[in-house]
Amino acid sequence: MSGVGKGIATASIGKILQSRGFRVTAVKIDPYLNVDAGTMNPVEHGEVFVTEDGDETDQDVGNYERFLNVNIYRDNYMTTGRVYQTVINKERNLDYGGKCVEAVPHIPLEVIRRIKRAAEKTKAEVTIIEVGGTVGEYQNVLFLEAARMMHLKNPSDVLFVFVSYLPIPSKIGEMKTKPTQMAVKELNSVGIQPDFILCRAERPIDGPRKEKIAMFCNVNKEDIISAPDVNNVYDVPLNFEKERLSEKILKKLNLKAPKKDLNDWRKLVAVSQKAKKEIKIGIIGKYFETGDFILSDSYISVIESIKYGCWRHKCRPIISWINSDIYEKDKNKLKELSDYDCLVVPGGFGSRGIEGKISAIQYARENKIPFLGLCYGMQLATVEFARHVCGLGDANTTEINPATKNPVIHIMPEQAEKLAKKQYGNTMRLGAYPCVLKKGTLSRALYGKNKIFERHRHRYEFNNNFRERLEASGLVIAGASPDNKLVEIIELPKSVHPFFVGVQFHPEFKSRPLLPHPLFLGLIEAAI
Ligand code: GLN
Repeated sequence: MSGVGKGIATASIGKILQSRGFRVTAVKIDPYLNVDAGTMNPVEHGEVFVTEDGDETDQDVGNYERFLNVNIYRDNYMTTGRVYQTVINKERNLDYGGKCVEAVPHIPLEVIRRIKRAAEKTKAEVTIIEVGGTVGEYQNVLFLEAARMMHLKNPSDVLFVFVSYLPIPSKIGEMKTKPTQMAVKELNSVGIQPDFILCRAERPIDGPRKEKIAMFCNVNKEDIISAPDVNNVYDVPLNFEKERLSEKILKKLNLKAPKKDLNDWRKLVAVSQKAKKEIKIGIIGKYFETGDFILSDSYISVIESIKYGCWRHKCRPIISWINSDIYEKDKNKLKELSDYDCLVVPGGFGSRGIEGKISAIQYARENKIPFLGLCYGMQLATVEFARHVCGLGDANTTEINPATKNPVIHIMPEQAEKLAKKQYGNTMRLGAYPCVLKKGTLSRALYGKNKIFERHRHRYEFNNNFRERLEASGLVIAGASPDNKLVEIIELPKSVHPFFVGVQFHPEFKSRPLLPHPLFLGLIEAAI
């Protein structure tokens, strides 16, 4: 089922094999008809993770990048829509030479072609392929068929790891293996026999249950791997190694490797467990609620980036999700923001909750609470500054009010054309672009260099017609595109505010556990 931890399992298996000296990459298969994740609502599908080359992918790709500390590119992500689109285009181009083009074998063959291309382009020695969805559902059957075909062709090069969930019903108090047994049966029916079963559960799986699964699922007992819930997902590779998983995988693949080297990782996990000093961070967003449940998946990269910043400073992050709507209903509630050591306003779209975010930013600015605005957060910080410091009362982004007299944030010209033609898919300003940092600014000091590359995902931008006016009132344009046409970073001088930075890009996509992003480090330092 979704959320069981396939992404973390994939990333962690990658990590432990990487620690044995192999070049590893990971591929994500999403069984949706959407061509990419860019058009999916974050509440439904979690964060849209943007790659260096501008693909709008699933949040698991973010996990792979963070665990493996490598960039994952467009080739490593596929959806049903993307695969079908290629096959249909090829058919239209007569690439199949007049053959009858069929779901089987042409779709699985295209899947295999994509997997191989991803491995070749990244020069990976081991490629971990995560098939999303649930065994037995209609949607991922053709991907499983591709997996079966790969195994048939290269039996000694392809291994199957099955991630299963073992419930422990509270009224019974015993871990149940039956759903796993049935799921493996289902998997067998499409011609796949798992080599390993990862047993996700609240608690570690014990010997008797390992035996049961081994017998009923036709897997060696030592290949039933315990994967209990953890407080910290970075623990997972270490837990896998307690079960000697890398050794077992390499043996089956007939690969020789040096001893594992997970020392840096181990140290990081130790810091995250031992850190005592608490830092209270408020994330003011809106994609939290789904029915009666609260999710934070929409902001996972932001959350992880905050954690890395805290751990590097040997602190423990206490993160609260704040729904910006509440400040629209009751401005008095803004006072609660004083409880936080720092505030983050992440990216977003549309008008819901926007005035609440603007009020929160004003509060952070006036009360000198360290603040980091990401994409929309930067745009709204600009609106806030224009309204309350420059006195442009109706200042706004044209995303919210197209008729404002003071459109301090407006649509990028090429984006307006795309929207007019209803070209929504993968058309934003996406992926990494260069940005030049201004001497003497906080951002420049934090990055320690004058040119950076950061990842973008937006249609609106800072309106240069207001640049002088805002600068005259004290706003610092700390970073811009090399031609100086696009404002990429705004900040306030340290003499006015301890840390007030807004960035048009998404630094959260480039922060890694062992390589925390400088802006998040700066934010946490200011918070401390
Ligand atoms: N909605 C804004 C834009 O399109 C910001 C996008 C974002 O935060 N990713 O420019």
